[in-house]
Amino acid sequence: DVALRLDHLVKRYGERAALAGLSLTLPRGCFVALLGPNGAGKSTLFQVLTGLFVADEGDVVVAGEDLRRRAVAALRHIGVVFQQMSLDLDLSVERNLRFHADLHGLPRSLATERLHAGCQALGIEKDLARPVRELSGGNRRKVELVRALLHHPSVLLMDEPTVGLDPKSRRDLLGAIRADVAARGSTVLWATHLVEEAEAADRVVVLHRGKLLADGTPADVTAAL
Ligand code: ADP
Ligand code: ADP
Repeated sequence: DVALRLDHLVKRYGERAALAGLSLTLPRGCFVALLGPNGAGKSTLFQVLTGLFVADEGDVVVAGEDLRRRAVAALRHIGVVFQQMSLDLDLSVERNLRFHADLHGLPRSLATERLHAGCQALGIEKDLARPVRELSGGNRRKVELVRALLHHPSVLLMDEPTVGLDPKSRRDLLGAIRADVAARGSTVLWATHLVEEAEAADRVVVLHRGKLLADGTPADVTAAL
């Protein structure tokens, strides 16, 4: 049961290949840490997987849907937390979440149920009516995670989501993601520079110059590096 399959993916910026023939298959229900130095191609991969960029070569299949041939269907199965905060600061937490739910065509009652459950799980239900501007960095990240999961994606992408967060918020995020992987069988691709976060993953994938350098359990990969 495959959540995500990348097959010889190539993305060039001019002469430079940011993704240089990347192949990777991830099963359902897997928490994957994506490691790699700056310039390895992590952001480019996320840009391709969120439909912002089109790959030059290769295939992406998300939950059985081919990104090239059925982009809208494939992208419905992707959730993302970008590196940069991407909430509307002047709108309430609830309005931010409802906007996303509407984009994904969720019925209102289902959106209500999920956004309350999500915020409750992360301890931010009391903030639903507040403008995002009043929330701490950690709580903003939590809102972004609730949003990314509202449409129940098969694949959740997180681009260094814990940068700048306190240890408690970091643990809360990790815990919520683990719970989603266990409860729904989602697959999480978590880009990080932190070895301790990679060690908490089921699987570690290392990118280098747009290719797979290593792929295995945290113990295998740290031994190989
Ligand atoms: P990170 O490793 O944290 O993703 P980068 O510096 O590689 O940081 O990239 C930050 C942003 O800048 C990305 O969105 C990337 O697409 C863009 N970027 C990186 N390198 C270049 C470049 N040479 N020219 C234009 N944009 C770039
Ligand atoms: P990472 O997120 O792992 O740091 P990126 O995907 O940002 O890696 O970058 C991969 C390579 O592509 C780097 O050499 C970077 O400079 C280059 N790059 C990234 N974005 C752009 C862009 N928009 N234009 C030109 N080059 C880019």
